[in-house]
Amino acid sequence: MQSRKTGAGCLFIVATPIGNLGDLSARAIETLTTVDVIAAEDTRRTGALLTHLGIKKKMLSLHAHNEAKQVDRIIAELLAGLSVALVSDAGTPLISDPGFPLVREARRQKIPLVPIPGASALITALSIAGLACERFVFEGFLPAKKAARRQKLATLKEQPGTLVFYESPHRISVMIADAREVLGSRNAFIARELTKIYEQTMSGSLDACLAWLEASENHRRGEFVVVIEGQQTSSETAYDEEVVLQTLLEYLSVKDASHAAAKILGRPRKQLYQHLLEISAA
Ligand code: SAM
Repeated sequence: MQSRKTGAGCLFIVATPIGNLGDLSARAIETLTTVDVIAAEDTRRTGALLTHLGIKKKMLSLHAHNEAKQVDRIIAELLAGLSVALVSDAGTPLISDPGFPLVREARRQKIPLVPIPGASALITALSIAGLACERFVFEGFLPAKKAARRQKLATLKEQPGTLVFYESPHRISVMIADAREVLGSRNAFIARELTKIYEQTMSGSLDACLAWLEASENHRRGEFVVVIEGQQTSSETAYDEEVVLQTLLEYLSVKDASHAAAKILGRPRKQLYQHLLEISAA
């Protein structure tokens, strides 16, 4: 597998399953079978996958701690005409995984790059979240430290696109609690252990998601994708609440205005009723 133009071997970016081995594509298997070298995030983990597939292959490790050094070595192999497949532990390489410096350098050196697409946890979660996905922002893992996490969330508060995060079992509850506090009450979706035996999902308000996490230790185990509704800038929430309430009171009784306001603003009628009483008394 060499490029006729450059004589260099191809670099294949191969997605592997995020749980269910049945999600490994036929092209991925063919590529892993035919390349000269496999660059893997964890050679033991990829070794187990290759054993399962009956493939024996030279492997190189490429992980966060040796990436700078290994990029030169892998590029040298590619320039010598060998074909290389890059795989990560799960899902699509580069997506919260190693590989970006290698791909950037391969592109700089005009080495042919071939994607072998497959699973990615973020797209898998989005596809069933039931939250808008024509526009979304993937943030990967939020910072581990509370202050930095909240600061990052604050920068996302006005983002209209759906927000997608990866999260670890140790931080899933505090992350959702911080999101509730910083972003306010929003719809969200938690996907746990996607494509695996204990796959589970929860959708509802951030408050409901937090209550669900707190309800059972099992809900906090495994791997998570968190999807949170972006800031709603639809015509309902773009209105200035005070202006809407005062205008409605010019034409309607407090009761009728509260019904109309609840529809327009998407807020609980009882709260609005109280507020309308205050405005009309003033
Ligand atoms: N490259 C991978 C991809 O394309 O999705 C992501 C790698 S990242 C290091 C691993 C994180 O992805 C996990 O901590 C979790 O947040 C998410 N993830 C991976 N597999 C998952 C699964 N089966 N269910 C839910 N989340 C998963």
